[in-house]
Amino acid sequence: MEVHNNQKLIILTAPSGAGKTSITHFLLNHFSQLSFSISAATRQAREGEVDGKDYHFISIETFRQKIKENAFVEWEMVYEGKYYGTLKEELQRIWNLNKIPVLDIDVKGAIHVQQQFPQTTLSIFIQPPSIDELKKRLIARGTETAESIATRINKATYEISFKQHFTKVIVNDVFENACKEAEETVNNFLD
Ligand code: 5GP
Repeated sequence: MEVHNNQKLIILTAPSGAGKTSITHFLLNHFSQLSFSISAATRQAREGEVDGKDYHFISIETFRQKIKENAFVEWEMVYEGKYYGTLKEELQRIWNLNKIPVLDIDVKGAIHVQQQFPQTTLSIFIQPPSIDELKKRLIARGTETAESIATRINKATYEISFKQHFTKVIVNDVFENACKEAEETVNNFLD
């Protein structure tokens, strides 16, 4: 991939259930110059999710082929057996539109992307107010099994320990306040 020093990108990262997807939606609605980076993923689509909009849902075989072809900026097995990755061509597609990609990705992936574009990346870590609160939110979401919730909680504890690697940490206690803080952070970055 060509190196574009002036081509910015924004990463939102957090433990699952911390509210980063809602804050990502808020930012995408608020700033017309931002565009969601559609990741490739091998998990099943959830109800309401659309292929090519929420994710590029692909098979494990296709995903592995793309790894071989060096098609990813970063990829991770985020959960046991489930691959997720940011495609180089997806970032390029958005830059070609003169827009700024917004990546909603896990903590390891966020660190890898940031290492590749250190001068042009804004990385925002959304921190849940507490592990207890995170657990409540994951249960309330109603999309996860008890086992999946337990896995996500364990992972969250580990991920919070990496928060100092990111440009900005926002505690998502009151959603409106977190959005406001994210808006200000992005405004400064766009200047
Ligand atoms: P979910 O299955 O809930 O949609 O996503 C699970 C986790 O994978 C979330 O933390 C989400 O941000 C992360 N994720 C989504 N796309 C990517 C990606 O392209 N790369 C990485 N590393 N993580 C991703």
